[in-house]
Amino acid sequence: MSIDQIEQDKHKARLAKKKEVVDARIAKATEERGVLILLKGNGKGKSSSAFGTMARSLGHNQKAGVIQFIKGRRSTGEHLFFKDHPQVDFHVMGHGFTWETQDKSQDIEAAQQAWAIAEKMLKDPSYDILIFDEMSYMFKYKYLPVEPVIEALQNRPKHQNVMITGRTMHRDLQEIADTISDVQDEKHAFRQGVKAQPGIEW
Ligand code: ATP
Ligand code: MG
Repeated sequence: MSIDQIEQDKHKARLAKKKEVVDARIAKATEERGVLILLKGNGKGKSSSAFGTMARSLGHNQKAGVIQFIKGRRSTGEHLFFKDHPQVDFHVMGHGFTWETQDKSQDIEAAQQAWAIAEKMLKDPSYDILIFDEMSYMFKYKYLPVEPVIEALQNRPKHQNVMITGRTMHRDLQEIADTISDVQDEKHAFRQGVKAQPGIEW
């Protein structure tokens, strides 16, 4: 037998073993229910991952709800693109919290209004996927208590998927989450002096 042939056989055996392990795992994952996904960390890619997943779900004709808890200075590409989609119910938190405002009582009022909408969505089985973008800051700055949010998440319709984004995540949310991805910041163009651009940053 040639060395090439021996290598090929070894490779084949390794892959067969790997397939066995993966197949066993697939066979074990039989539960059908929605999941709570948290996208955290300092790297770029959390909100865009959530909206990518939403596009995927819309491809399956599912219904989506979005609440952006931080109002940016300009309208984002995701808002412009999805706001008129017949299967998307898109809300950007009112007059309140931006990185520029420092009016805490106004921010809290806006946070409560946004949460009222979120809470309704979490009781409505017609939504298949919910995105609470940058919601984590509401807990960090104590604009919202975390307990009612945990309770509503735990009592939501069984099939409903929820994604929450933000750099830091409350420990209680992490405890009840099914999937947590931590997006690391290895490099960011901003630090090399590249200006923020539409389609990439917003
Ligand atoms: P994106 O919306 O691009 O997926 P994100 O949701 O992971 O980003 P946020 O913390 O919400 O990140 O910040 C949003 C904005 O800040 C984007 O314009 C993004 O490019 C920028 N940004 C994200 N991470 C960094 C970083 N480490 N340094 C500088 N700017 C960043
Ligand atoms: Mg974001």
